[in-house]
Amino acid sequence: MKIVVIGGGIGGYTAAIKAAQYKAEVVLIEKGKLGGTCLNRGCIPTKAFLHDAHIIDAVRTSKAQGIFDSVPNHNVQAIIDRKDTIVTRLRDGIASLCKANKIEMIEDEASFIDQNTLFLKNKKENISADVFIIATGSMPSRLPIDGAQSEEIWTSDDCFDTPLLPGMHVCLIGGGVIGVELATFYKSIGCNVTIVEAQKRILPSIDRDAANQLATILKKQSVTILTNAFVKEIKSVSPYQVICTVNDIEHKIVADRIIQSVGRKAVFSDLKLENARIESNKVIQVNDAYQTNVSHIYAIGDVNGQSWLAHAAAAQGKVAVDHIFNPEKPTHQLLIPSVVYSDPQIASIGLDEAIAKEQNIEINVGKFLVSANGKHVVEGKERGFIKVITDKENKILGSTIFSHLASEMIPYMTQAILTHQTIESLEGVVFPHPTLTESLEDAMADVLGMSIHSFPKVRNNI
Ligand SMILES: Cc1cc2nc3c(=O)[nH]c(=O)nc-3n(C[C@H](O)[C@H](O)[C@H](O)COP(=O)(O)OP(=O)(O)OC[C@H]3O[C@@H](n4cnc5c(N)ncnc54)[C@H](O)[C@@H]3O)c2cc1C
Repeated sequence: MKIVVIGGGIGGYTAAIKAAQYKAEVVLIEKGKLGGTCLNRGCIPTKAFLHDAHIIDAVRTSKAQGIFDSVPNHNVQAIIDRKDTIVTRLRDGIASLCKANKIEMIEDEASFIDQNTLFLKNKKENISADVFIIATGSMPSRLPIDGAQSEEIWTSDDCFDTPLLPGMHVCLIGGGVIGVELATFYKSIGCNVTIVEAQKRILPSIDRDAANQLATILKKQSVTILTNAFVKEIKSVSPYQVICTVNDIEHKIVADRIIQSVGRKAVFSDLKLENARIESNKVIQVNDAYQTNVSHIYAIGDVNGQSWLAHAAAAQGKVAVDHIFNPEKPTHQLLIPSVVYSDPQIASIGLDEAIAKEQNIEINVGKFLVSANGKHVVEGKERGFIKVITDKENKILGSTIFSHLASEMIPYMTQAILTHQTIESLEGVVFPHPTLTESLEDAMADVLGMSIHSFPKVRNNI
């Protein structure tokens, strides 16, 4: 079987390798850089930046503790250079993996001629296949207001190669995950940061307690957060300005750099989907197996609009390829965790406490303050909490971890939900001491009112 994958981001290259494992003849077409958004201008660059930001913060904290005499100056260009080294190394790694799996890689832009044929723009050649997997990803959205379309006004795509220096004022429009992660970085390297968010809180789709507590932490670190703030106009000629109303009062923010982080939109306009009669609106519609309305054409990752997360794109790619080779087998229902790589991080899975309450779902909630965990205290990372949501029979339905390295702990809760565990069924699991993960044990035990390291008063006050 010949499978052509369009788009070499994390969804596309994962699907391509999985298809090669099934011994298919695989072609991977990428018009830009292998690794797509995640590797080149998304997950990896932001996390490289945030890693260095944490080092800078740790040095500052250590100075306050008397461990260092002074805080040395940091070099923002070196942070960018280190990011480039990481990205290049990982990109080379993906290319080697594709080569080792005998995947034919084509650097080109593909568009459909019909349901069985693509046209390659640069080569000016056609390519046909039995199955196509569209993995063309997404791009940053811009606000539909004056000034927002100007290239002078950055999106996340522009943040990774040009240094912003300490003392500069950065205004982030949008307090979602990307906006908050960028704010965390710019604040740590010494920029003055303002977040402008239209909703009544930052991170509106994340656990309310975690988002509110993170906002408090950011404000203490001198980040200005304007909520209920509607941007009406952006002045894209220096000095850049954001004109907005905050609680109906007009506000003007003057900044050295304005960055829009107001969501993303699926990329498929150059695919000529109409030639293959593939249905789309703002995204490409798919079923549970990620098939489009044309059964041998799949669409995975950001382009189908289901998740907008890298690990979701990769997981969907694997499900789609499994379905190509085993169409009779039921598809895996994916349980996708989400993470904000703030400081502390916020990781969530499954049912959210506020949503459960809104929908009158009866739940029990276990909570644990990580300041009562030895390893958190040792690492000086004692801000945060863990929440575990169960049904009335104590079956685990959801969790939010607001803590240092929450991203590394959330898979435990994901697995618990996926394997239908109850608090009682996990009681035999012994966590090593001292670890951050012991906090999970305490949060789960708190569902039964049995957390060893919680005072009842503290538990009720998270
Ligand atoms: C700043 C930022 C930080 C992020 N951080 C995280 C994070 O920490 N964790 C997380 O899970 N997610 C994160 N994301 C989201 C994540 O990057 C995306 O969900 C992920 O990249 C989607 O993968 P994809 O394979 O669907 O698409 P993409 O990675 O966008 O790849 C699509 C590829 O298709 C190519 N392409 C498009 N059209 C064509 C065509 N016609 N022919 C050939 N090639 C084509 C593009 O050039 C691109 O390389 C972040 C995103 C941003 C912007």
